[in-house]
Amino acid sequence: PSQAGAGTMADDNATQKDGKGNVLVSVRVRPDVGAKDSKQETDWEVSNKKALISYRGREGGEHYYDNVFDTQDNNARVYDAAAKRLVRRVMEGYHGTVFAYGMTGTGKTFSMQGTATNPGVIPLAITDIFSYIRETPHREFLLRVSYLEIYNEKIHDLLAGPIVGANGQPGAQEEIKLREDSKRGVYATPLKEEIVQSPTQLLRVIARGDNARRVAGTQFNARSSRSHAVVQIVVESRERGATGSFKESRRTPITPGGVRVSTLSLIDLAGSEKAADNKERRTEGSHINKSLLTLGTVIARLSGDKDKATSDKDKSSKEKHLPYRDSKLTRLLQPALSGGSLVSILCTIQIGASGSIAANHTHVGETLSTLKFASRAKNNIVSHAKKADESLGAAGDAGSRALLDRYRVEIE
Ligand code: ADP
Ligand code: MG
Repeated sequence: PSQAGAGTMADDNATQKDGKGNVLVSVRVRPDVGAKDSKQETDWEVSNKKALISYRGREGGEHYYDNVFDTQDNNARVYDAAAKRLVRRVMEGYHGTVFAYGMTGTGKTFSMQGTATNPGVIPLAITDIFSYIRETPHREFLLRVSYLEIYNEKIHDLLAGPIVGANGQPGAQEEIKLREDSKRGVYATPLKEEIVQSPTQLLRVIARGDNARRVAGTQFNARSSRSHAVVQIVVESRERGATGSFKESRRTPITPGGVRVSTLSLIDLAGSEKAADNKERRTEGSHINKSLLTLGTVIARLSGDKDKATSDKDKSSKEKHLPYRDSKLTRLLQPALSGGSLVSILCTIQIGASGSIAANHTHVGETLSTLKFASRAKNNIVSHAKKADESLGAAGDAGSRALLDRYRVEIE
């Protein structure tokens, strides 16, 4: 609760206007498992009270973030400070995106999924979603979930059966494309969306996706570190007793009967170790990190909305220079990165005692590069997220009402 960042998201009006409170950037430091003595000297100083990380090596410097989690902080603490407020806001009708960024092995999946005894952001968000529904008996909710993976610039549906054929090549699935329309924003199609009515059901659907991912990963084991995993939970709600319909579309502030629609995106990114900054690496074949590379470029080029004088015309020409369309990931994240969503970025690093593997030079370079990404994200992303509209219109059609009647989340 003492976290500066968590605080700013709370104090709506002031911070909501400049959008700063809508973007949180946190850094989580993973324990150096290999170290014999955790109190060993390192070149790093981590202060989670001041949300500061400093490096005393050659490219040293101080880095401040909304939150810095040290090795003592468990997933619950990370969730509370970096995601809880955002998840609650999604339940109220804002779009929200949480993503984990960092080199392989630093704790992205540990933070997002966690373990049975130390559940991560995804299961904690699920618990919270259902708590919110119980605490909000005057509204009724419909929840749908999808789970996709971006690998080599191809999108795979993790809920639609095997994602690799017997020969190890992708292709067992119909090609999934990204589309955009004014109502639904950017969306993948065809993509399975499952309606869920309980935390267990929601967890089970996600576990099924994790499993599909794991199976594909055993056929090519670098796959999981090179792919992006995207869980999206679409939340529709309306006043209890309203006559509106839940519609089978995504991210749409649907109007009839005052239905509000918002999306929570929870993203475990590919390992950043071959990401941007190093031009030579672009030539390293395939599209392995095209998405991450483009993400780095977009974030570096976003200049935010600091220049308030910018007219809409200038703004659109500025947006044209942002290469969102160059990769699947940035295209999918475009609504979030361009300001339509609340954003929380969790950057994971591992710093080691001198002489440990984690302290070797490459690792320092990767760590500094993650910190640089985090700083840029903090400075450049500006969110002007608004609550989805809820307007009272005509009653929905009978079919949609049946969907609501059958599938809304029941509270006891
Ligand atoms: P990534 O997804 O970034 O590649 P993982 O989440 O798989 O990394 O973490 C790599 C290993 O380190 C896993 O065995 C994980 O359990 C462990 N680990 C990561 N972060 C922590 C942490 N904060 N505390 C304890 N163990 C961690
Ligand atoms: Mg991982």
